[in-house]
This record gives sequence, structure tokens and C-alpha cells, in this order.
Amino acid sequence: MKILMMGPPGAGKGSQSAKVVDHYDLPSISTGQMFRDAYKNGDPIGIEAMKYIKKGELVSDDITNEIVRLRLSKNDAENSFLLDGFPRTVAQAAALDGMLTKMGTKLDAVFNILSSNDVLFERMEQRRVCRSCDTTYHLKFKIPKECGVCDKCGGELYQRPDDTLESVKRRLEIYETKTRPLLDYYDKKGILYHINGMQPFDNVYNDIELVIRDL
Ligand code: ADP
Ligand code: ADP
Ligand code: ZN
Repeated sequence: MKILMMGPPGAGKGSQSAKVVDHYDLPSISTGQMFRDAYKNGDPIGIEAMKYIKKGELVSDDITNEIVRLRLSKNDAENSFLLDGFPRTVAQAAALDGMLTKMGTKLDAVFNILSSNDVLFERMEQRRVCRSCDTTYHLKFKIPKECGVCDKCGGELYQRPDDTLESVKRRLEIYETKTRPLLDYYDKKGILYHINGMQPFDNVYNDIELVIRDL
């Protein structure tokens, strides 16, 4: 199974991807997470990428395509994977098609998680993430048992540096101009599924599951 999670920032891609990869035991390939990990490790690519991430700008297609190419070449991604947050530009979608053709495979489904801008702003403002294990919380809808502490690992919760009002505005603009056109691209291939992301977590997941079961 090869699937892709799309949707504007804050739509719930990461939260739903975590459920899907858990349930189906798929490798998860999240470009945003790979950049944050690289930054945490002091890797030059991560430090370069964080300059753009903080401002809400996209990291260059060249760097992004290269980290995905390297990740897809690992053995565990041969038969199945979930891509989260990649591709985000037409050039990245073309690069991904090239990689998949080389691997002799193609995508089975692209999920587009939909949400209104009001909800997106609120979600990013209230998002908190564990510094150690990257589990995502929400201060109203997925509340940690102890304030500021991760339920899973006891790690410290922090607010992502790109979840500021300015950066969120910029990310939504970029989504509209650079990423939204990809929906048409995947719709024409007949593999695009729209999911209402404004429902409770489990209902969103159920809608995704119904599609996956039929693939
Ligand atoms: P994305 O990866 O698309 O940016 P996340 O999965 O990180 O989005 O979700 C953004 C924020 O919204 C997080 O704080 C998350 O806990 C919360 N969230 C995600 N999905 C839902 C939902 N269905 N209902 C309520 N809150 C949600
Ligand atoms: P969100 O969906 O909430 O914006 P992500 O973790 O997917 O969160 O991405 C965070 C940031 O990482 C993006 O705003 C962008 O700067 C960078 N990034 C992630 N994926 C890509 C990509 N495919 N191309 C370029 N930049 C990316
Ligand atoms: Zn944790």
C-alpha cells in the first residue's frame, strides 16, 4: 500500500498518518518531520531547512526531493509507505512520479484532508509537540494529562517555531498557490479522496479506513 496524505497545514495530516502507520505497520515518510529531526541532530540540511520553515516558506524542491529519494531507496519502503506533506509543489509531484516509475510502482491513494481556515488557525495555535517523541497534542482536543508533559514519554511539550500567526498565514498562502494545484493532478489520475477533517479524530480516521479497506 502506497498512500499520500495531503491537506493544508493544521488539517490533521500528522495525527491521521500516525494512526494509519500504526494500524497498517507502514513506514511513515514526513518531510516536515525529517527536516525537524535533521535540525535537532545539528545536521547542516536541517539547519538550512529551519531558516525557511520558521518563516513558513517551503524548503527548496532540490533538497526536499533528495531527502525523499534517499528515504524511498531504503528497503522498508519497497512495498509500502505513507507520505505525509510531500509532494507540495508541481515539481515535487513530477519528481515523485519519476522515483516511483524507477521503483516500478505507483500511488494507490491520495487523501486530501479538508478544513476551514478558522479551524486551521485555531489548531496550529493550540498545537503542542513532544520534544522527545514528536507526539502531537492540542490544548483543547488532545489534552496532555499533565500540563506541558508528554503522556507517552514524559518529554517536554513545546510550540513549533512555525506555529506563529505570521508563519501560519504564509503557509496557508503557499498552500493555496503551490500545493492546491496538485489536487487536480491526482484527481485526473483517479486516486484522490476528499476527507472531512473537521470531525472528531476517530471519525476522520474511520473515513480514511473505509477507503483503505477497498483499495
Ligand atoms: P498537520 O500535520 O496537518 O499540520 P496535525 O495532525 O499536527 O496537522 O494537527 C494540528 C493540530 O490539530 C494538532 O494540535 C492536533 O492535535 C489537532 N487536531 C488534528 N486533528 C484534529 C481533529 N480531528 N479534531 C481536533 N483537533 C485535531
Ligand atoms: P504543516 O503541514 O503543519 O505545515 P509539516 O511538518 O508538514 O507541517 O511541514 C512543516 C514545514 O516543513 C513546512 O511549512 C515547510 O517549511 C517544510 N516542508 C515540509 N514538507 C515540505 C515539502 N514537501 N516541500 C518543501 N518544504 C516542506
Ligand atoms: Zn513524548
